[in-house]
Amino acid sequence: MSGPFDVADADRRHLWHPYTQHGLGEEPVPIARAAGAYLYDMSGRAIFDGISSWWVTLHGHAQPAIARAIAEQAATLEQVIFAGFTHEPAARLAAALVERAPAGLTRVFYSDDGSTAVEVAVKIALQYWQLRGEARRLVAALENAYHGDTFGAMAVSARGLFTAPFAEQLFEVARLPDPVDGDPVAALERLLSARGSELAAVIVEPMLLGSGGMRMWSADALRSMRELTAAHGVPLVADEVLTGFGRTGPLFACEHAGIAPDLMCLSKGLTGGFVPMGATLATEALFERFRSNDRKRTLFHGHSYTANPIACAAGVASLALLDHGSAERRRAIERSHRAAGERLARLPAIRNVRVLGTVIAMELAASDAGYLSGVGLALKRFALDRGVLLRPLGDTVYVLPPYCATDADLSKAYDVIAEFAEQL
Ligand SMILES: *Cc1c(COP(=O)(O)O)cnc(C)c1O
Repeated sequence: MSGPFDVADADRRHLWHPYTQHGLGEEPVPIARAAGAYLYDMSGRAIFDGISSWWVTLHGHAQPAIARAIAEQAATLEQVIFAGFTHEPAARLAAALVERAPAGLTRVFYSDDGSTAVEVAVKIALQYWQLRGEARRLVAALENAYHGDTFGAMAVSARGLFTAPFAEQLFEVARLPDPVDGDPVAALERLLSARGSELAAVIVEPMLLGSGGMRMWSADALRSMRELTAAHGVPLVADEVLTGFGRTGPLFACEHAGIAPDLMCLSKGLTGGFVPMGATLATEALFERFRSNDRKRTLFHGHSYTANPIACAAGVASLALLDHGSAERRRAIERSHRAAGERLARLPAIRNVRVLGTVIAMELAASDAGYLSGVGLALKRFALDRGVLLRPLGDTVYVLPPYCATDADLSKAYDVIAEFAEQL
């Protein structure tokens, strides 16, 4: 007779976790269920999810309307091949995305996650130039960028700790300075005059370099990069995988600058954080370049689960929630972040407090800066012991909550950061 299933034991024997060094012997926390802004462990202990479970949970965990939409869709049409077939959830979600996206983005290509959404954008841009009969192979990207973990996405991401083992296999990218402490606009101007005829696309995380350290940059620089790329006919790719769906305040971060990119990558919050899905939005001009009676001019890209109906139904339900009361919730979170930011900035061990929409970030005093900094790991443990999930990026601490988080929930996260910083 077998006893109750031993999660920890099976995990220890059989699982390989993401971004996890198993040699350090840190046991993962088994989570039994989640609701709203909270995770609950096997003993029922509540943990405030201060990072929206890796930036995906939008409205809250187990949000009933999305859970219902998923259950109904699963019982109606769970999956169908998306080449040669279509379905209502895919068409509804595409129409809803286009209606809300920056002007001119009229075509939706579905994929599985943020990395694939970036792969698709890069492939569309590269093949677009081939279809025009021009050999443009160079992509420009920002220093400290993060665009995902598949090869193309890694190539356009900043080179460093994460990409080092694969450096030789990554294609050449023209690197523009991080807009927080450099001038990517001047660098892009120089690049356009030196290698403009080779430049196939420019990719940016608008307003917020996420994994690169929650670095917030200016709408002016973004607008200038849009003007330059537009003037030279170079597609601008906005990677809104993190910033999409209200994370930075407006529905899309591009709205801060009043710009529309040629390609936009979405994932993370696309399904409200329930099921994986990616989408790449494109202009009609890009789409038209592929449309032909010549089958060789096809975008030969697709995934087994492209436009999975369950994921699309979750997306439709999530967008409906974004239309109702979400903007006020996001503004309340931003106000709460700003008030807490003033308080936290007074602590000697905290530097550079910044807020953009529902994201507050800061640096902790540390003897070892960077992703492997021990101070972040220490805070993560300190917070978890006090019922708060934080996952600093090295010495950069941030709170990025589900939109249902209340002032009281948020205070738990701010207090735990303050308490930790006071003892540094
Ligand atoms: C998380 C992230 C990605 C990668 O998304 P995955 O779903 O993890 O593959 C790409 N771009 C940005 C800006 C991200 O934050």
